[in-house]
Amino acid sequence: MTSPRTVAHRDPASLPHVVIIGGGFAGIATAKGLSDQDVRVTIIDRHNFHTFLPLLYQVATAGLEPADVAYPIRTIFGSARNVRFRHGRVRAIDHPRGVVILDDDAEITFDHLVVATGAIAAYFAVPGAEQFALPLYSLADARRLRNRLLSTLERADVAADRERVGVTFVVVGGGPTGVETSGALSELINIVIRRDGLRLDTSKVRIVLVDVAPRLLTQFPDAAGDYARQHLESMGVDVDVGRSVVEIDATSIRFSDGERLEAEAVIWAAGVSAGDALPAGLSATPGAAGRAQVSPDLRLVGSANVWAVGDAAAIPQSDGSIAPMLAPVAIQSGNHCAKQILHVVHGEATTPFRYHNKGIMATIGRNAAVAKLPYGRVITGRLGWLAWLGLHLWYLIGFRNKLRVMINWTWRYFDWKSGPRLIVADAETDE
Ligand SMILES: Cc1cc2nc3c(=O)[nH]c(=O)nc-3n(C[C@H](O)[C@H](O)[C@H](O)COP(=O)(O)OP(=O)(O)OC[C@H]3O[C@@H](n4cnc5c(N)ncnc54)[C@H](O)[C@@H]3O)c2cc1C
Repeated sequence: MTSPRTVAHRDPASLPHVVIIGGGFAGIATAKGLSDQDVRVTIIDRHNFHTFLPLLYQVATAGLEPADVAYPIRTIFGSARNVRFRHGRVRAIDHPRGVVILDDDAEITFDHLVVATGAIAAYFAVPGAEQFALPLYSLADARRLRNRLLSTLERADVAADRERVGVTFVVVGGGPTGVETSGALSELINIVIRRDGLRLDTSKVRIVLVDVAPRLLTQFPDAAGDYARQHLESMGVDVDVGRSVVEIDATSIRFSDGERLEAEAVIWAAGVSAGDALPAGLSATPGAAGRAQVSPDLRLVGSANVWAVGDAAAIPQSDGSIAPMLAPVAIQSGNHCAKQILHVVHGEATTPFRYHNKGIMATIGRNAAVAKLPYGRVITGRLGWLAWLGLHLWYLIGFRNKLRVMINWTWRYFDWKSGPRLIVADAETDE
């Protein structure tokens, strides 16, 4: 057992230095676990805030403000005496010298390194996808997408003076992110057109949700995928599963059977890669999705002092599978990593990580969600939706953000048309 040793009576410079790359769920949990312990901690992130990724789609569809889902990392650790934040992007790792190298060429020496760099969009070499599709993996992505969606609708309103215009939005990816975005987009369009007075014919505005898999939400049981499909279709979303997108350009997508579909915006929710987010020079064996393979105690295979957590790590589970890329895995692995670093610092043996499955959820729209509970039971409808709301509020970082989101959701529930439908861009091209 680690005894509760604190930094109170030690010269900070003499303490082992733990460098954490990434202030997402995993990096923040690791730093919290090391806060006020007898180590020095530097947490590095290219953003000066933590982003609550599960609610990004609500920022993109003008349900929430960017500040509702982001929290300054400095504020999180304001009262911790041994945790420092460094704003910047880590470019490379030099293992023999034990340093990380930042974009501005600064070097930071570590005794222990925790890689918590998360994941970024994977485009699977689909021509044009990276250039023309809009991903949803950062706050900047969400703002860009919101601007594009709202600008497209405003342009269509101007054109409606002259002709009966049609608008098509395509969402690629039928997992939770694609399903949630499609549902919220349908609600946005209905509000904007019906309540904000846009002169568009709603039957001419299409949302097409495409996935190569034969059904939606393949991580959930069949019944949940069927429920999501039926509910989305009742909201006017065209669900086109079992089809693969093989090319994207500025105005259309092309399917593998050669059919081309004109689209004003293509939202990319098709998958993520952790390997492409890892800094250069990391001596890691790549696992699934390029995640760094770790031993059960979360150290990189073969390393004594480099750890990987959250999406960045391919974490083995006792049944031989790899832990999924989910926020609870990131938080739990971060907590565990902090404890193991303290064990090593104190000359104690490490223990293996065990993920406590919290289930998975996806919301589809107002009063509609699916939740798969830890033992496989599925709940849908309003109960699932209320569970989804409660859990997301619980996991949001910062009391101020919890309160703001709760007020915003409650307000919108009763005053449906409210919402930050702002195009925050100075020029047409400034998305
Ligand atoms: C749109 C979306 C919706 C999701 N919805 C859900 C959901 O509903 N439920 C759920 O459980 N999971 C959901 N997930 C997955 C969940 O968000 C991730 O599993 C979780 O964020 C992983 O946490 P992490 O700390 O490993 O990585 P992240 O949260 O991605 O954090 C990584 C951090 O590292 C920083 N970083 C990366 N590279 C560098 C570098 N070189 N230098 C400096 N900083 C760097 C990034 O800026 C970022 O802050 C969703 C993910 C997305 C993208």
